Amino acid sequence: MDVNIVVMGTESVGKSALTVRLLTRRFIGEYGDIESIYSHSFMVDGREVTLNIWDSPSSEDSSVETSLLEKKVQWADGYILVYSICDRASFNSISRFIQTIKSTKDYLNTDKVPIVIVGNKRDLHHRRTVLSEEGRLLALNTNCHFYEVSAAENYHSVLMAFHGLVDRMKDVKPTT
Ligand code: GDP
Ligand code: MG
Repeated sequence: MDVNIVVMGTESVGKSALTVRLLTRRFIGEYGDIESIYSHSFMVDGREVTLNIWDSPSSEDSSVETSLLEKKVQWADGYILVYSICDRASFNSISRFIQTIKSTKDYLNTDKVPIVIVGNKRDLHHRRTVLSEEGRLLALNTNCHFYEVSAAENYHSVLMAFHGLVDRMKDVKPTT
């Protein structure tokens, strides 16, 4: 199985940190704001899965220029929507990404859209402004999966989020 995944979210929520953590198991702290597509393979239920992950500069997703965002949405089969638990504005922007995905892609079954919402920076709990329950409720209301993770301190949590998305993608195929 070969799938395309796009990582979206506002600036500095940890999109690159999550991607690099998945690929290298490392957290390096500082990441350039560059456009990259990474490939990563692993085994799921005895089958090799290759993920092509598009990590893009934050400025693109927040820009008024929506055509690039739509191009990314078209390219992808699955979506990781990231916010920071310390950044309320980043959480508020998640709904807009979900809207864009749902209106660009035409899913046969909207009960199981291939979207995983990720609340990152769980290690910064003393600076938390978004409750876990809020993330969970948003996911419930939009038929997405939800994970709280820490790219900085917990490789396993990051792995679970990406695996959760792959699991979801197995039974969803858009009509367009
Ligand atoms: P992007 O703009 O969404 O790609 O965000 P980056 O991946 O570049 O991360 C932005 C900043 O947040 C960097 O200074 C990272 O070191 C930091 N960061 C990312 N993930 C975490 C995390 O889980 N915990 C903490 N404490 N910092 C993080
Ligand atoms: Mg980045």
